[in-house]
Amino acid sequence: GRTLGVLAVQSYDAGLKYDERDRELLLFVSQQIANSLQRRAAAQALRQANADLELRVLQRTQELRQQIAERERVELQLQHEVVHDALTGLPNRKYLFDRLERLFGLFRREPGRPFAVMFMDIDRFKLINDSLGHAAGDTVLRTFSTRLSAQLRAPDFVARLSGDEFAVLVEDGRDPDALAHLAQRLLADMQQAIEVEGSKLVVTSSIGIAVARSNHADVEELLRCADAAMYRAKSAGRHRFEFHDEQLQQSSLGVLTLETELRQALEQRQFVPYFQPVVRLADGSLRGCEVLMRWQHPQRGLLLPADFLAVAEESACIEAIDWQVFEQAMQSVIAAPRFKGVLGLNVSPRHLQRDDFAQRLLALAARHGLPAQRLCVEITEGSLIDDPVRAAAQLQRLREAGVGVALDDFGVGYSSLGQLHRLPWTTLKIDRCFVKGLGGETPDLASQAVVCAVVAMASTLGLSVVAEGVETPEQHAAVKTLGCQFAQGYLLARPGPALPAS
Ligand code: C2E
Ligand code: CA
Ligand code: CA
Repeated sequence: GRTLGVLAVQSYDAGLKYDERDRELLLFVSQQIANSLQRRAAAQALRQANADLELRVLQRTQELRQQIAERERVELQLQHEVVHDALTGLPNRKYLFDRLERLFGLFRREPGRPFAVMFMDIDRFKLINDSLGHAAGDTVLRTFSTRLSAQLRAPDFVARLSGDEFAVLVEDGRDPDALAHLAQRLLADMQQAIEVEGSKLVVTSSIGIAVARSNHADVEELLRCADAAMYRAKSAGRHRFEFHDEQLQQSSLGVLTLETELRQALEQRQFVPYFQPVVRLADGSLRGCEVLMRWQHPQRGLLLPADFLAVAEESACIEAIDWQVFEQAMQSVIAAPRFKGVLGLNVSPRHLQRDDFAQRLLALAARHGLPAQRLCVEITEGSLIDDPVRAAAQLQRLREAGVGVALDDFGVGYSSLGQLHRLPWTTLKIDRCFVKGLGGETPDLASQAVVCAVVAMASTLGLSVVAEGVETPEQHAAVKTLGCQFAQGYLLARPGPALPAS
């Protein structure tokens, strides 16, 4: 119904007239022309539409490509986050496990090429966190991570397991000497002072090393070995490394379940005091008793502190255990009116970091009707290292109330003689390693000199001296001659469950 154009016909022959038939013919022709014109227009529109479509497809493809790239980037990031630790950027536990699983598979096929895992943990990290704050703790962790990574060459790497626990994976664990050297290097490097909020902080660490063996059932067992070795490094005095050996292998399961067992034992009150008399060398009379804790284990019998003390201290159970022992020791004193001596209590270092320790101990004694003068706390020098000011405040408080304060294992520790006059000591307990050297066939002059010096110094400062670990009559005679006033040891009496009469 639209006009597209006009078809005009003209004749120069005057006689020719167009009639109706010609008009019909022309109409037909015009319709044909109109058809072709329309077809052409349609074809053009189609081409245009195709071109438009192509353009849009192109644009959309580009958009999609960008979206996919973005998604891939996010996925990679997520993947990284899943296997890396946010604070330090180190690989995390999952990453380590995946890698270990693979290595363990390879090792199964080729047992001649074992790999090794080192567990590493910062000594007393909790103390850093508690006393300097979490930001300082984080700084220590980050510094630690950077230093560790810098010491390792690919494919070896370090992962952060949790808190202050790290694991180093060494793919070639064939040479124990090389492992020992690496561990030594890590320990030395980690010991360099760390700058924390303007001051320098020295932290040490402990390492447990386990080498893959064909009798390891799985990766977890290998890790348990490394963990147990680390515990041993800690209990052997920290800032050192230990290999997991056959013997430890046997007891390693024990170490892990020990913590749980300790908590159960606390609930069931399985910790009991044993008593070892301390006698006056002048007349053999009783000065008092040292309280030594024992674990009355339902299956394994009577256990000594050496069997559980390190784990108890590391897991902070020791405080509750000590209170249980202190309380029962005081009850024993009530139940044994013929014992009139002083009760020597071994106090774990952790107590002295508590501001209410002295108060609590005095309250416990008061509740048992025990005068403060009948108590003596035994402290090792190690207890004073972490926060000497805090520890001193507790000791001062106890001393003011009348409690005796003994420096235990004197001579083996950090021997900060400078500390001696700053704290309210009443007694020095000479470590048994010096007594061991006395009274032999060939006199150990060094031990003799130490005991002599300690006695002289103690007398200047007005302190009494107890010789520990007297096992032979010769040692007994020697410590007496050298001027110690008191002694304890197997020769005089072994620790027992009952208090002697004074
Ligand atoms: P320590 O305070 O130096 O205790 C003396 C240790 O020497 C005791 O070992 C005692 O049994 C042992 N001993 C006594 N006489 C002799 C001797 O003649 N020869 C030899 N070779 N050893 C002798 P024990 O009872 O195994 O205690 C070991 C350590 O465990 C103690 O050393 C002390 O540091 C700690 N400890 C003991 N009881 C407690 C407690 O109730 N609380 C805390 N926190 N620690 C405790
Ligand atoms: Ca002691
Ligand atoms: Ca001692």
